[in-house]
Amino acid sequence: MPHDDKALLKKLKVYSLLDLALCVPVSYSNSHLSQNLEVGKKHTLEARVEEVTSRNGRLSIRFFLPMFDQDISAMFFRVTPYHFNTFIPQTTHYIQGKLEIFNGILQISQPKAIKRIGKILPKYKSELKANEMSYLIEKYISYEALMDEGLESMHSNRLLSLHYPHKVEDIMEDGEYTPLIKESLKYVEAYNHIKKLAKKKIEYTPLGSLNGDIAPFIENLPFTLTAEQQKVIEEIRQDLASSTKATRRMVVGDVGSGKTMVILASAMMAYPQKSILMAPTSILARQIYDEAIKFLPDINVALIMQGAKNIEDLTSYDFVIGTHALLYREDLPQAHLVMVDEQHRFGSNQRQLLDAMMSIEDKRPHYIQFSATPIPRTQAMINSTIIDVSLITTTPFEKDITTLVIGKSDFKALLLHIEEELAQKHQVLIIYPLVEASESIEYSSLEESREFWQKRFEKVYTTHGKDKNKESVLLEFREQGNILLATTVVEVGISLPLLSTIVIVGAERLGLASLHQLRGRVGRNGLKSCCYLYSNNLPNKRLSEFAKTTSGFDIASLDLKYRKSGDILDGTIQSGYQFRWLDLSSDENVIATAQKKLISL
Ligand code: ADP
Ligand code: MG
Repeated sequence: MPHDDKALLKKLKVYSLLDLALCVPVSYSNSHLSQNLEVGKKHTLEARVEEVTSRNGRLSIRFFLPMFDQDISAMFFRVTPYHFNTFIPQTTHYIQGKLEIFNGILQISQPKAIKRIGKILPKYKSELKANEMSYLIEKYISYEALMDEGLESMHSNRLLSLHYPHKVEDIMEDGEYTPLIKESLKYVEAYNHIKKLAKKKIEYTPLGSLNGDIAPFIENLPFTLTAEQQKVIEEIRQDLASSTKATRRMVVGDVGSGKTMVILASAMMAYPQKSILMAPTSILARQIYDEAIKFLPDINVALIMQGAKNIEDLTSYDFVIGTHALLYREDLPQAHLVMVDEQHRFGSNQRQLLDAMMSIEDKRPHYIQFSATPIPRTQAMINSTIIDVSLITTTPFEKDITTLVIGKSDFKALLLHIEEELAQKHQVLIIYPLVEASESIEYSSLEESREFWQKRFEKVYTTHGKDKNKESVLLEFREQGNILLATTVVEVGISLPLLSTIVIVGAERLGLASLHQLRGRVGRNGLKSCCYLYSNNLPNKRLSEFAKTTSGFDIASLDLKYRKSGDILDGTIQSGYQFRWLDLSSDENVIATAQKKLISL
């Protein structure tokens, strides 16, 4: 029966030729004739049938081994007509199996008769039968086919050597592929992935070219923009000026890296055309609105939030800032520039909706997303295949945060530290893993601890994810609080300029990205600050390594490293595509080479 290629490929989850080429064998069976007889090992032997005896459903065959001038007996326990038809006296076969000694006689149990020798057979581990797999490989994987995919001949040859092996020693070492082979597998994996992504990229025509002058805005600022802020603004200036390609850019920068200034500069460059910005919470929307009012000269800025007293008529506004409430306004002005802050807090539907609302026929607005979740540089490189990516890796203020991993015995010292900070009018944030007591967690909850703190300190506030008054509690705390007890809800980028200390209870339970977000709450204006990682399970290598670095990009790489080693994760970083050979924490060069090659094609 002919094979149904489509069905087979689908079963294998193979969608490109290189996907198939990357389905590499897990091992090889060597059918070279054995040169000596070693008990306990697998052998391939030339053997002539001397005597066949069938008893109690078993088959016993005495073979003669001409190469060793010796007899050997073979037992077959599962006997079929095939055996009788194959092992006819005086016929010679190649048999394969493990050699044993039984009652002083060499024996091989249930050997396999193989047709060809001198051939190394690849063994695949897949949903398909062995013959289906070898059918596909032989039909599709050839030197020409691999070269047609744009691979260098070195990589093509190495891939071929895996599927059509000559000598196992050339490709495997201690049961693993050799470093050279792995290098090629990494490369092809990166190349294949990026190539597929590139196919998904669609370019749109913008509503128009935007060329607003930002000089008045820059001159108005009480500080100079950092080199990276300037670099990103320049990239966006070039994007927006295009009349043929609508901007699709993602700006990734650590908490406090000054993304708001980039947002404002972008709105300025869009002027006199209109801009819209969507932020995930009303606090954030208002924060940006306040800065826009303060820093943007001659631009009318509107703020739209759910439940708030909103502006009735938006026609005279140039820059509309709001929460997702924007999505429900039918009277949004036609904007040429759409921006989304903290984009990872929105679903992709919400993000696309705004873009769609501003599109006219097949023309799209320029579209810029901002994210505070640092991704590893390698991930950014890969993402840049589909969307332009700008990274902001520095903050305007050198952050002065000391991170300490502490346990129970350090608690007294912690209380002293808190008292000292409060005496200086600084604020303290304590993060609990849960709101209410739970048996499954060995740490006290927010509710259980509340009394302890309220007895010792004044102006202790509490809030958590399900708290309806969360935003007002945060605002009141910002104005007058001492200590805020919370769960991880405060991840939202609200700025608390007096916050100098954060204590994270049960820190080992959180992913590094979350810890980093939380730590980013303190020391925002260069205030000397402390981050305490409280854990009952010390030492913890992951936490100690985290304590040593403050760069979000390094932490993203660290996170990858520990994720691979199977450490806990809370899924804050987009998990994305899983690579089998490529290592996003160390293979920057491989990705760069693959990307360069693809661009040159
Ligand atoms: P994020 O990247 O987290 O959105 P923000 O835009 O909120 O960061 O910036 C954090 C703080 O840094 C704000 O108070 C902002 O006014 C200030 N800031 C931004 N850029 C600069 C700069 N170049 N020099 C000094 N302060 C800056
Ligand atoms: Mg921000």
